[in-house]
Amino acid sequence: MLPTRQKLIGERRVEEWNYNFYFLPKPRKIVTINGKQVGETYDQAVARLERELGGQVMEKTIYIKQNNPGDDNLWMCKECKGMWGFLEGGPRYNRMEYCPYCGRKIEEEAR
Ligand SMILES: [Zn+2]
Repeated sequence: MLPTRQKLIGERRVEEWNYNFYFLPKPRKIVTINGKQVGETYDQAVARLERELGGQVMEKTIYIKQNNPGDDNLWMCKECKGMWGFLEGGPRYNRMEYCPYCGRKIEEEAR
């Protein structure tokens, strides 16, 4: 069975399942977070987790262009040291607003 809705928020996977058995008067929606059932609705769980993650997302970082020979367009997150390569331009040019590794907001580029 597949979930009817799902969303990955940080490391949390929120899923909504539709149980529709003949013995139920109407289909029941079950919501799980990382496979564990919760009492919230899907929308409540998503809103809560996004609010909780909000604190981390708002932290800021700087992306720094690396000058390694051979890696001509490699950038590094100042905070988590995650590396990201672009075909052309930097994070801003590629509309990358958040570091894909640590989730911090990319505020600045340094060459
Ligand atoms: Zn980072």
